[in-house]
Amino acid sequence: MNLGESVIFSVSFIILLIWLGQSLWIYLDARNRNERFALGWAVLALFSVPVSLIVYLMLTRGREEKCKTCGAHLERGLTICTNCGADIGKICANCGSIMKESWNYCPSCKNKY
Ligand SMILES: [Zn+2]
Ligand SMILES: [Zn+2]
Repeated sequence: MNLGESVIFSVSFIILLIWLGQSLWIYLDARNRNERFALGWAVLALFSVPVSLIVYLMLTRGREEKCKTCGAHLERGLTICTNCGADIGKICANCGSIMKESWNYCPSCKNKY
């Protein structure tokens, strides 16, 4: 094998690694988050590099929050962390709606917290 061939070989090997790595990473990440279509995402990732990764990140990261205490990924609308039990929201004293920690007014009944 001459130098040119080994360079081409290494480059295609790295590309293959990134290609498979992206798919594997998406699959593991989706499984971690109990995503329903973990395998579907992984297969999709094989056919559309790197668009699927960007779409995947936008979809999964956009609809969740992070626990300030333990850093766990949480679904929106929760008031406690399902991993460590820390408070991540508050309940409106007037109507019982779930409010974010940073909100001063309840969006449902306009009560000041
Ligand atoms: Zn937590
Ligand atoms: Zn309220």
